[in-house]
Amino acid sequence: MRLLNLSLDEIEQLVISLDEPKYRAKQLYSGLQAGKEIEEINISKELKQKLALNGHTVGGVTIHQKLISKIDGTIKYLYQLEDGNIIEGVLMHYKHGSTLCVSTQVGCRMHCAFCASTIGGLVRHLESGEILGQVIAANRDNYKENSRGVTNIVLMGSGEPLDNYDNVLKFLKLVSCENGLNISMRNISLSTCGLVDKIYQLAKEKLGITLSLSLHAPTDEKRKEIMPVSKAYNLKETIDAMHYYVKNTGRRVVFEYALIDQFNDTKECAVKLKQLVKGMQCHINLIPLNSVDESGLKGSKTDRVNAFKKMLEDQGLSVTIRREMGADISGACGQLRRSYLKKEDADWNTSV
Ligand code: SAH
Repeated sequence: MRLLNLSLDEIEQLVISLDEPKYRAKQLYSGLQAGKEIEEINISKELKQKLALNGHTVGGVTIHQKLISKIDGTIKYLYQLEDGNIIEGVLMHYKHGSTLCVSTQVGCRMHCAFCASTIGGLVRHLESGEILGQVIAANRDNYKENSRGVTNIVLMGSGEPLDNYDNVLKFLKLVSCENGLNISMRNISLSTCGLVDKIYQLAKEKLGITLSLSLHAPTDEKRKEIMPVSKAYNLKETIDAMHYYVKNTGRRVVFEYALIDQFNDTKECAVKLKQLVKGMQCHINLIPLNSVDESGLKGSKTDRVNAFKKMLEDQGLSVTIRREMGADISGACGQLRRSYLKKEDADWNTSV
C-alpha cells in the first residue's frame, strides 16, 4: 500500500490491522503529511518494521531537480515517482500566498496540438497520493517560519485531470482535509480540455473548486484543428456543461484561451467568443502561447494579445492576461519534463 493514498480514517484501519494502538495512526499520518520518510517519523520501531514487512511505502514524490527563476523567483520542480517516472510542477509566489501547479498524469492522451505534455502520449495515471505528494514536497522544500508554504493549487500541470477522475477526486478530499494540509477547495482550480460527461459528474459533487475550461478556439471548426477532444464533444455540448457547472455550484467558471498568431486572435474570433459565453458567469484568461518546437504554432505578439483583450472587454467580458511566470525556466505545461526526456534520449544515443 502507498500510504499517502490513505485518509486519516484509512490509516487508522491499517494501524489497527497491524495490531498497533490506534493513537499511532495520528502520529504516522502527521509525519507523512509533513513530508517525512517512514524512518524519520516519530512512531515505534515495531510499527516501522511492520510497515516495511508488509510492503507499505510512502508513495509520494521526491524532488529530482529544482530550477529557480532569476526573474520572479518562480520554482520549477522535476519530481521522481517511486517507479522512476518523472513529472513536473511549478510554484509561483504572489502577494497573497504561493500557488502550486500540479500534474495529474505521467504524459497525457488528449493530444492538443500546442502542448508538450502530450508528446509521447499517456504513460500512466497518477495515484491520489502522488498528486498530494507534489504539494507535500513543495511545502517541505519551501516552508519557513514566516511563510505558510503552498496556499493555492491549480491542477494545470501535465495530464488531463478529468481523465483520471477517481484519483483526482480523492486527492481533492485528501488535500482539503482539516487534519492534513487543510487547503480549502476555494483555493483550488481544476483545468480540463472538456470531457463533458465528467464535467457534469464534477458539478454534482458540489466541491467549491473553480473549474477552468481550455477553450482556445470559438468555433468547432477551429477547435478541431488544435484539440482532438472537440471531435468527441462539440462546443455546444461543452458550453452547456459549463452552464450546468455554474448553476449547480454557484461558482464562476474560467475559460482559458491561448493566443495563437493569426489563428484565434482575430476580431471575428473575439466576436464569436463573446456569443459563445453570453449570459454565463465567467472570466476569460488569455495565455500568450508558449511555442513548443514540435508543434510549429506561434504565439501572438504582445500588441495582438492586448488588442484581443480590448476587443473582449469592449463587449463587456471580464478578461485578464496570464502573467508569464518563470519564462526563463521552461514555463509551460510539460516543457521541462520534455526537455529532460530529450536530454535523456541524447545521452542514451551517444552511449550506444
Ligand atoms: N489537461 C488540462 C490541464 C493541463 S494544461 C487542460 O487541458 O486544461 C493547463 C493549461 O495550459 C491548459 O489551458 C492548456 O491548454 C495550456 N497549455 C498547454 N500547452 C500550452 C502552451 N504551449 N502554451 C500556452 N498554454 C498551454
